[in-house]
Amino acid sequence: MIDRNEALRKLAMNMARYSGIAPLAKPLMGGLGAILMLHHVSDSAPKPLGLNAHLTITPGFLDEVLTLMKGMGYTFVDMDEALARIRKPPSGSRFATITADDGYRDNLVEALPVLERHAAPITVYVAPGLVEGVADVWWELLEDIVTEADTVRLDCNGASVEFDCRTEAAKRDSFCRIMKCLSEDISEEDQRDVVRGMAREAGIDAKPGRNNVMSWKEISRIARHPLVTIGAHTVHHFNLKRLSEHQALSEMADAAVRIADATGEQPRHMAFPYGFPSAVGRREVELARKAGFASAVTTRHGLIRPGHARHLRALPRISLNGRYQNIGYVQTMLSGVTTPLANAGRQLVTV
Ligand SMILES: [Zn+2]
Repeated sequence: MIDRNEALRKLAMNMARYSGIAPLAKPLMGGLGAILMLHHVSDSAPKPLGLNAHLTITPGFLDEVLTLMKGMGYTFVDMDEALARIRKPPSGSRFATITADDGYRDNLVEALPVLERHAAPITVYVAPGLVEGVADVWWELLEDIVTEADTVRLDCNGASVEFDCRTEAAKRDSFCRIMKCLSEDISEEDQRDVVRGMAREAGIDAKPGRNNVMSWKEISRIARHPLVTIGAHTVHHFNLKRLSEHQALSEMADAAVRIADATGEQPRHMAFPYGFPSAVGRREVELARKAGFASAVTTRHGLIRPGHARHLRALPRISLNGRYQNIGYVQTMLSGVTTPLANAGRQLVTV
């Protein structure tokens, strides 16, 4: 969730498209392949403020992207095969592997039929805490809170702050400011109760399951599908950088145990929650190795290059962003030209 480089990347994509450098760049910069990142895949009507709109693409757009990539000669592979190709790049086609974070029910209901049409494997990263309702998809709950409420009160930095939510502009501004407070001032362990408290004040039912995350029964079902791999997304979807080393390791290792209990299979792959620089760095990458994962993905923007063989637990992805459901943007990102533009000139994006 939460795409902090969005504006920069949009600028880079437009520059690359309109200057005509994208098609020229591909043979040099296209890399070994791409790990696509999805969250929701749904035709459901968007929420009025669209504050999390970057996290939903339509099944039709997914179909368009997969058709494009097939036409470009990409081979769709699962994460194990992607790792094999990173370690020992075959000559010829580039690979694409698809990933989805958080384990939303629409992955099963709306994305899977599209993936079946293209025989495209997917890794779905699930967080046991979200499945069991002891953690919330709080950024979506917060959107509902600022949509419904006229004012929201929250203790930030030891002071009680009242956030104005009377107009649409005020709601947008308050959403960003509250999110910052929740992400920086309030501990990860307190975040859920604080957001649920705000929801109660706003008259919103924050009961578990309201965020359309798959149940264990659904996860077990989807896990048996030949195109689906279940990966881990930690237990509570906490920002790991804000936890002690011991806690961060437990978040990863315990998620693997819980998923293995539920599905009968030990997950080999994980996605760091949030995945941006203030949530995952070298310590977390090392802990993912200690926890036994063969791969881990971030939300850093980039294509996969041969050098990633030394960084299999710090793999960047290409986000299919709900705000830019434009096939031209995807083409530009796959050309490789946006990778250095979004990463201070770096082609090999790790953490
Ligand atoms: Zn997530």
